[in-house]
Amino acid sequence: MILTLKTDVSESQVKEVEDKAKEMGFSPEISRGEEKTLILVKGDHAILSREVFEAFEAVDFITPISDPFKLVSKQWSKKTLIKSAGHKIGGNKLVFMAGPCSIENQINTLKIAKEVKSAGAGFLRGGAFKPRTSPYSFQGLGEEGLKILKEAADQTGLGVVTEAMDIRQLEIIHDYADIIQMGTRNMQNFELLKECGKAKKPILLKRGFANTIKEFLMSAEYIAAEGNTDIILCERGIRTFSDYTRFTLDVSAVPVLKKLTHLPVIIDPSHPAGKREFVDSLSYASIAAGADGLIVEVHTNPEKAVSDGSQTVNPQKFKEIMGNCKKIAGVFGRQV
Ligand code: PEP
Ligand code: MN
Repeated sequence: MILTLKTDVSESQVKEVEDKAKEMGFSPEISRGEEKTLILVKGDHAILSREVFEAFEAVDFITPISDPFKLVSKQWSKKTLIKSAGHKIGGNKLVFMAGPCSIENQINTLKIAKEVKSAGAGFLRGGAFKPRTSPYSFQGLGEEGLKILKEAADQTGLGVVTEAMDIRQLEIIHDYADIIQMGTRNMQNFELLKECGKAKKPILLKRGFANTIKEFLMSAEYIAAEGNTDIILCERGIRTFSDYTRFTLDVSAVPVLKKLTHLPVIIDPSHPAGKREFVDSLSYASIAAGADGLIVEVHTNPEKAVSDGSQTVNPQKFKEIMGNCKKIAGVFGRQV
């Protein structure tokens, strides 16, 4: 990183900063200009020590040279291929995860599982622990829901994706899920992320709806730093002033993340849409932008779904979406 010092700093102030950099194992190089003095702080991931140098009165501003994340950065590895439930995520073939927002009962979970399987999905999604805005809304069936989800997935040959909201749930979910979902509201729950880093299952990390790409990748870094690099990044819409849809899908997150990280990137078109009529368009845009797959809310009777019914599509629509995604993927040499 480059430290730009304030004008009129004394020689002893410059030396203080230089000494600190040396003490930390970096090799500082000083460049004295007419007005400004710059210190180039070189060394592996020097930017991670940014805070230390920001605290110096002499430092005006800092310009990073490398990214603040390392394990998830493209510099670390070229591509991560995640193997789960007989599927490969992040390869040429796209992955589709589909199912209800919440697990409701055994009969309809199995019905939905059969439908999404026949449409070509690889994973059954469904929440048993639900992050609801109101404490009075349906909170999920808990472990009972996990049993129903796993049974339906096993019967149909699908993998299981489900959300854990805290460390205690993580332990239970570990026994039922193939992929553990971290919801948008927990993207910066650092203690939970650290536990995900110790999990022996891939983590589907959703982007916080008010978080930048850098913050998103720093959260992924938390998981990777504990040893688990099987992380699937999921863009699911962010808050903007645009309020016709529930959130604004940041489609540009796909090429940006593809540039910065080796991790697979998927899109959730349902939560940004908020209305089922937009789920198809957002799905198509995502595949065209280069996403490695989709996670879609599907229900045999969306109008009766206990949560997120308005953005949930029926199996017939899901089939249509998958068919068109296949065509779009083909344009870019990818398979469904
Ligand atoms: C969900 O997948 O049902 C969900 C709650 O997602 P998000 O965390 O993106 O809101
Ligand atoms: Mn939902």
